[in-house]
Amino acid sequence: MCGLVGYIGKKNRAIEVLITGLEHLEYRGYDSAGIAYYLNNELVIKKEVGRIKQLKMSIDLDVKSNLGIGHTRWATHGRPTKVNSHPHNYKDITIVHNGIIENYLELKKYLLGKKYKFKTDTDTEVAAVLLYDLYKKTGNVLKAIKLFKEKVIGSYAIGLICSNEPDTLYAIKKNSPLIIGFGEEENYIASDIIALSNYTNKYIVLNDGDYAKLDSNNVYVYDDNGKEVAREIKTFESDGEVISKNGYEHYMLKEIYEEPEVIKKTSVIKRIPDISNYKHIIIIACGSAMHAGLIGKHLLEEYGNIPVDVEMASEFRYKKHFLDKDTLVIAISQSGETADTLEAVKIVKKQHVKTIGIINVKESSIAREVDHVIYTEAGREIAVATTKAYVSQVLVLAILASKLIKDKRITDEFNDELKKLPILIEKAWELDNEYKRIAETIYQERDIFFIGREVDYALCMEGSLKLKEISYLHSEAYPAGELKHGTISLIENGTPVIGIVTDKSIASKTISNLKEVKARGAYVVYITTKDLYLEGDFYDTVIILPDIIPLLEPIITVVPLQFIAYYTAKLNKCDIDNPKNLAKSVTVE
Ligand code: GLU
Repeated sequence: MCGLVGYIGKKNRAIEVLITGLEHLEYRGYDSAGIAYYLNNELVIKKEVGRIKQLKMSIDLDVKSNLGIGHTRWATHGRPTKVNSHPHNYKDITIVHNGIIENYLELKKYLLGKKYKFKTDTDTEVAAVLLYDLYKKTGNVLKAIKLFKEKVIGSYAIGLICSNEPDTLYAIKKNSPLIIGFGEEENYIASDIIALSNYTNKYIVLNDGDYAKLDSNNVYVYDDNGKEVAREIKTFESDGEVISKNGYEHYMLKEIYEEPEVIKKTSVIKRIPDISNYKHIIIIACGSAMHAGLIGKHLLEEYGNIPVDVEMASEFRYKKHFLDKDTLVIAISQSGETADTLEAVKIVKKQHVKTIGIINVKESSIAREVDHVIYTEAGREIAVATTKAYVSQVLVLAILASKLIKDKRITDEFNDELKKLPILIEKAWELDNEYKRIAETIYQERDIFFIGREVDYALCMEGSLKLKEISYLHSEAYPAGELKHGTISLIENGTPVIGIVTDKSIASKTISNLKEVKARGAYVVYITTKDLYLEGDFYDTVIILPDIIPLLEPIITVVPLQFIAYYTAKLNKCDIDNPKNLAKSVTVE
């Protein structure tokens, strides 16, 4: 998680590059931030709890420095305090670190035995002290890094400066993203090229195990075995998309309103692979991407007759696998850096099973790891809670399912309806006042339930997650038929229950379940389609969505859920784009 950035250069603009870079990386983690730089050969470290803007206020931005490293933290070990914030320094060595040093306790014990003292609770400080210990032993930073890699288990992208080398920046990478950017008489490191987009578009992506030494004019990269290597220089093609809210109050709202455009772009993507020969599909993903996968399961089974299992990547990694040549694995991740999903893909590949990635960020780690990548065309998504990227993932899965349909009449119908989808999404916006009214009714509630069956249940899971992550209200998605096996005891007078009823085959069953909760006093929101709408006294509020073929209906149905979550969070005055404890790109396991 979190982000790092580093600068070495004759233009002496370390402070500017570090702060701008961190501002661009803030979406990756934001509980504290810090920078270290050299000023007249003196190391200066500045750290602040909170956002980059807090750090920025504590820094003299006019200071000229040729070398520095910066970090925005998403705490894994130790509370988000100033002392635990990065950079961490031990004598000559100062580092910033993304990831987790898994054997840090063992290493700490070893270092305590050597009389080293520690000031923080972090795993990163252990890495700093170990690097110092190895540097003291070898007298050479590169040699120390090589030994460090042999001793450390875990994930790390590290930026390192050494006080005896005020013209050199070092980088180390394993299982956490790290790139090197090239400038004129200056070079950079960062977790993501976006961080450097104001300065360069030329970069290399480091491989796992790589480490590097940079000065103002040169970059030397070494592979896992210490051999000097050349990595392919890439050009970052910015889509010209300006990172701005474009007049919207939040990125999340802007991104919801971008959905029709995203659908148009994603509908015409090329290179959809033929998956008809597989007998079993496993979808691996986390969070909302996993919920998109659950919709994909329904669509691929229903229209392609291929059995599909959806696995949370974090669970999949550690369980027994039943994979064979007839199995296809589909990995879904917006960032393409989700650590659990990436590791799951690596496990699958070791067993020579084919993998497809549904990824939004070009050239990301998962995109490079899979056999075939399908890029969703959601564009850059800034709000931590995904909206448009989720929609594009579901659409790609619907397109994959549509390719399995044998009846040409139905595929033609799919293609026609797909063209209508953006307009129908806009129709769903027209119910904005209803979404606001629902938010006003539920925003002070303690528990909220989403119920539905089959594909509607998969949508409930996404609606519930959206609400939890940005409004901090407790909500639960439940398969409608399961309520009576226990959870219905939680329904009291006024408990909000949002029922999703878009699947014709089980609509009447879910409606019966809505009647059951209504009879126990629930405040029922009934979300359905024009075609399935049923009058009655079993609901308090109804949202009637435009009709489209079932293969595409989930893409419309998620829209009210996103708006309801958004307005509820707004009424609760939550930090909608950067909800507490979360980060956009989950690069730790
Ligand atoms: N494990 C480190 C810490 O807790 C780094 C976390 C991060 O990637 O931000 O400080």
